[in-house]
Amino acid sequence: MSKTKKFILNENEMPTHWYNIMADMPNKPLPPLHPGTKQPVGPQDLAPLFPMELIKQEVSMEQYIEIPEEVRDIYRLWRPSPLYRAFQLEKALDTPAKIYYKYEGGSYAGSHKPNTAIPQAYYNYKEGVKKITTETGAGQWGSALSYACHHFGMQCQVYMVKISYEQKPYRKFLMNTWGAEVIASPSMLTNAGRQILAKDPNSPGSLGIAISEAVEVAAMNDDTKYSLGSVLNHVLLHQTIIGEESLKQMAMAGDYPDVVLGCFGGGSNFAGISFSFIRENLLKGKKTRIVAVEPASCPKLTRGVFQYDFGDTVGMTPLIPMYTLGHDWIPASIHAGGLRYHGAGAIVSQLLKDKLIEAVSVRQLKTFEAGVLFARTEGIIPAPESSHAIAAAIHEANLAKEEGKQRTILINLSGNGIIDLPSFDKYLNGGLEDYVISDDEIAASTSKLEKLI
Ligand SMILES: *Cc1c(COP(=O)(O)O)cnc(C)c1O
Repeated sequence: MSKTKKFILNENEMPTHWYNIMADMPNKPLPPLHPGTKQPVGPQDLAPLFPMELIKQEVSMEQYIEIPEEVRDIYRLWRPSPLYRAFQLEKALDTPAKIYYKYEGGSYAGSHKPNTAIPQAYYNYKEGVKKITTETGAGQWGSALSYACHHFGMQCQVYMVKISYEQKPYRKFLMNTWGAEVIASPSMLTNAGRQILAKDPNSPGSLGIAISEAVEVAAMNDDTKYSLGSVLNHVLLHQTIIGEESLKQMAMAGDYPDVVLGCFGGGSNFAGISFSFIRENLLKGKKTRIVAVEPASCPKLTRGVFQYDFGDTVGMTPLIPMYTLGHDWIPASIHAGGLRYHGAGAIVSQLLKDKLIEAVSVRQLKTFEAGVLFARTEGIIPAPESSHAIAAAIHEANLAKEEGKQRTILINLSGNGIIDLPSFDKYLNGGLEDYVISDDEIAASTSKLEKLI
């Protein structure tokens, strides 16, 4: 008898609501603060950047928020996404553990990011916006938003982190193909970009810098708004469709995870896979361990400080209470470009502070080793970002083997790595290295933060 590897929901089983964890958090996150006055920001402060519907979601305490039918209609292009049991990987590891992965790489952009790009574009379009600016790291977010904007007849301008623009030109081609304008960041088009380039003409860029540029352009133009691909509450909300589906699929598999793992950049795919399971922990007494996996070169959750900090580098966004390495921290140029971000969102940071989740870090070479093993066993080439979650899952599976214990592991495979093949090539030819940072470097960066908590 062959064993079931793939758990698929019908279209009519796709969840109709996103889950808002704010409703169930024992301690709500502290409010975001205005960068100038240091007072809590109100809806009017955010109105130049975001449509009102997203601002409402950002502060909503409603437990479930309905997914608009127009959004569900596009979701159906690739959703519900499949959940797989990784039998081949388990066999290679010779582990008693069971490993499941939720595969988000089947979307048009090859990652989970369209789950929020589509609703964000939709709410902007409904409110008459003509153009959206954004930042992108490795290019996944920009790709996701490019198609979403085009679908709703809006222009899209993407500030792409320069190191990725150079290392990963294929996603620029994707964005151009979907009709977006792509600019290497830091650029000379904005005050923020010029300020950075004056200090360091060879700046590789960072997500924080690119955010500063995109926010500046949106703030200065009435018909233009800004869109963020991670970190903010409404982004995490939209991603919860991943976990809502996974719960149903784990039930189909007749199983329930002991540990849920997601890689961590700004927290959106991690939130997506995990918030529904945190709800089950909080409300139904389940005991699943929830683990965020970050790169050792950008360890904000495991080694950062909990403090108010800016979402961008230059200091234009609201101050957010979060685990951070400091807003002008420029992470090493690792190939998991989507994880090169100095901070974490307010919700995830509060969950970590309250010990409702855990965090671990993994070095670059370990993640590629895991990614290659996954490709050779399961067939899918994982994104370098997702390979962090795989590496942590392998660690859990090895522990299960050492302890001789059963353990059910669920990971979010946030994207595929087809467009990241040059970094796999580099790894296979010995051209990649680990980046280890010292406590002094972290202290030097975080000690500059104002102590607002
Ligand atoms: C962007 C990206 C990430 C990191 O962003 P999060 O908001 O932390 O999810 C992880 N994996 C993939 C495939 C991505 O594209």
